[in-house]
Amino acid sequence: MLNEKMIALGTARSVIRELFEYGNQRAAVVGRENVFDFSLGNPSVPAPAKVNETIERLCRELNPVQLHGYTSAPGAPAVRQTIAESLNRRFGTRFSAENLFLTCGAAASLTCTLHGLCCPGDQVVVFAPYFPEYRVFIEKTGAEMVLVPADTEAFQISFEELDRRMNPKTKALLINSPNNPSGAVYSEATIQKLAAYLREKEREYGHPIYLISDEPYREIVFDGAFVPYVPNYYENTLVCYSFSKSLSLPGERIGYIVVPDACAESRLVFAACAGAARALGYVCAPSLMQLVAAECCEETADLSVYAENRRLLLEGFRQMGIHCVAPGGTFYLFPRTPEPDDVAFARRAKELDLLVVPGSGFGCPGHVRISHCVPTERVKKALPVFERLAALYR
Ligand code: PLP
Repeated sequence: MLNEKMIALGTARSVIRELFEYGNQRAAVVGRENVFDFSLGNPSVPAPAKVNETIERLCRELNPVQLHGYTSAPGAPAVRQTIAESLNRRFGTRFSAENLFLTCGAAASLTCTLHGLCCPGDQVVVFAPYFPEYRVFIEKTGAEMVLVPADTEAFQISFEELDRRMNPKTKALLINSPNNPSGAVYSEATIQKLAAYLREKEREYGHPIYLISDEPYREIVFDGAFVPYVPNYYENTLVCYSFSKSLSLPGERIGYIVVPDACAESRLVFAACAGAARALGYVCAPSLMQLVAAECCEETADLSVYAENRRLLLEGFRQMGIHCVAPGGTFYLFPRTPEPDDVAFARRAKELDLLVVPGSGFGCPGHVRISHCVPTERVKKALPVFERLAALYR
């Protein structure tokens, strides 16, 4: 008898992957240039030159054990200290190596944090629209995911809806800003209000409520958008970070968890995350990438491509009469569909070889996600196809 739940997870492809595979099959038939694939969040911009230069230099200079050997389970102390100091300079925090646990990207940061915190029967609050893997990560711990419907006007937080779903079983809230799929950045006012609200609820319930801040898109922002650094607003914050998007390194699997000293039972929470990493087989993030992350943690890939793609698409949608909240960050747009059935809209788009992901899968029907981390030429060529699609609804 095998684990049925795991078979189901391993067999069912996500809607996004399904579309991506379809795009590849379709490209073989009609030619790659005729398929406009906006399905996957795979950064198209190369990693900064410093990444490859650092890898080459490290390969020349270090001995094999330094280069490819195991590090200590939470990551090399010097790497953790370097990243902590970089965060301190940028955000005025006071972290040290002891606060950082290096992981295999945000996915591992999240699973380790959630497993460390949650017991069966606990609840974790998630805000729509949300990254669909959250449900998989949360339910694997035995906790229940509680979904707060989206504020589709501005993609901030609907506090009334949140309040209806809070109760003493609430162990944690999981936020993601800048957001996949809406691109929205939570304003400082939103984070301040959330912090005050959670403090009040902690007093009422008599236990800590952890705020997990999943922020792989933190650096991908436009027009000088301000991304509040959540631990500076709420003590019981745990940060899950990844270099996948900011450095365009998704395949290299490197990120970290921050457990600040100010967080309730900080050392125990750190130990629990470390225990979860051990139980899940995630100890020792890739050694070479740890060293690269330390040297490149203040770099970003060239974000001007995403800024231009965003500008072109927003302007195009405006002219076509497609409503879209202008995102503060990420390489996603999340326009409202001209018919309420987003799945039907995405199907019609697919008939034009335009691949966009229905918002239903992100808990927010009536929208589609457009992942514009593609060369700008592709966006320009896709605009007339979007126009043909929009015209079907006039
Ligand atoms: N969280 C969000 C919101 C994401 O969009 C992604 C990836 O797309 C992840 C986590 C997982 O990131 P990683 O590739 O670093 O595991």
